[in-house]
Amino acid sequence: MKKFFYLFFCSIFVVFVGLGFVGCSSSEVDKVSKNLTTYAISASLDDEKKEITASEVIYFYNNTGTDLEEIYLHLYPRAFREDATIKPYTALTMATCFPNGLSYGDLNIINVKVNGEIKNHKLAGEDEDILKINLGFKLTNKKTVEIVIEFILTIPNCTHRLGFYQGNINLGNWYPILCNYENGEFQLSPYYSTGDPFCSDISNYKVEMKYPEKYKLCSTGKIDVKSDAGISTATISAKAVRDFALCLSSSSEIVSTNVDGVLVSYMGYSYDSDLNANLSLAVDTLKYFNKAFGKYPYNSLSVVKTPFIYGGMEYPNVVYISDAIDDESEYQKVIVHEIAHQWWYSTVGNNEVTEAWLDESLAEYSSALFFKNNPKYGITYDDFVSSALSSYLLYVDVIQTIRGEVNTQMNLAVNEYQNDYEYSYMVYIKGVIMFDCLSDAVGEGKLLSGLQKYYKSNKFKIATKTNFYDAFESACHKDLKNFFEGFLNGTTIISSIN
Ligand SMILES: [Zn+2]
Repeated sequence: MKKFFYLFFCSIFVVFVGLGFVGCSSSEVDKVSKNLTTYAISASLDDEKKEITASEVIYFYNNTGTDLEEIYLHLYPRAFREDATIKPYTALTMATCFPNGLSYGDLNIINVKVNGEIKNHKLAGEDEDILKINLGFKLTNKKTVEIVIEFILTIPNCTHRLGFYQGNINLGNWYPILCNYENGEFQLSPYYSTGDPFCSDISNYKVEMKYPEKYKLCSTGKIDVKSDAGISTATISAKAVRDFALCLSSSSEIVSTNVDGVLVSYMGYSYDSDLNANLSLAVDTLKYFNKAFGKYPYNSLSVVKTPFIYGGMEYPNVVYISDAIDDESEYQKVIVHEIAHQWWYSTVGNNEVTEAWLDESLAEYSSALFFKNNPKYGITYDDFVSSALSSYLLYVDVIQTIRGEVNTQMNLAVNEYQNDYEYSYMVYIKGVIMFDCLSDAVGEGKLLSGLQKYYKSNKFKIATKTNFYDAFESACHKDLKNFFEGFLNGTTIISSIN
């Protein structure tokens, strides 16, 4: 995700002063798609009610390393229900989130079947946004079980990851998805308002979505659309992806081109004059990151302009860019940042709840590298970094003055940050400073080599900071753990422009 954090200082100042897949042909993706969980979702949109009725078949492949009797899935849309106590928005973001006034969403489970038998299911988790399924038997490691979940999704009228507004429908984090299994248990973290509080294993997807013909659709995976009697049916396939998101738009055009075997698309509003310019930026970004970090392994990438509460949001093969961004340079920065997430978050995964810095700081610094190597966009690396540094120093100074102390840790879990500002300054902006310091210390060549090793070694996995340290130790032939830990723990003091 990308926030408008260069605008944040203005905001914070005011606040404080005033107060059968066809999707991927690449052999690499084909190879890793074996022995994965498969989601097969058949869904239909009722456009009047803004409801989706769906049947989701999960062929769950147990690769947890242990036998299981229970399975847990996130029901993220339930965070939008009226009685949710942990909501994905805050009092400060509500006006942006609900331009038409407060609206609720929900996900109601109709029934659950395990290997064809209807099973009792329970809502679980801190805020009843987890589906707990008792299998009724012990699922051995490396074995598969078929789970069928029938559900109705109510889409809220809002500009969030899940929401509809002004002719667009964002479908992010919209279906029951398996909780990741880590440290011997399923991770049941709720849908926090800070950061992108998600973590999921790569899986295969086959999705069929029915919707009124007036909508254009972009999504994860390869899309085949047929229309009949005013209804479009999209058949979508994706292999070895971490999540599956869609965006429907009734007022957009899609422009596309093929680059190195990847279908790159940009969906913007029909009246926009910059459709091809933004497509061209997406192509340049894909080409540069392919060269700098390692090849993008999938065969589609879509950039979608849509109403969105923050600057942008990343999903596998598809990213949202907020239509509220008026400034051209800011819009370009968000496109590049979100595409960088295809390397950091999507292909190389990480736990975005507990180690958000790992993908966000990398996505942001990757943007600085892109603009350095693509000077035609008129955004210089030096400006990018010095803007981050001066903004960071000012933030630290203001908070220190007002509160008498300031948290400068980058490595907190998203729910441990006091607010979105603290999270953004520490995770994104300080991350840029950290990587710029590293570049000064080891040289850009070794920094890129470290990132290439991190990418290559952790593709399709969920990486941790240990994997990250290992990659840089291998690239730089020195132990950089203390360097990184100093920034992450807040013990390294950043005091002036270097
Ligand atoms: Zn991001």
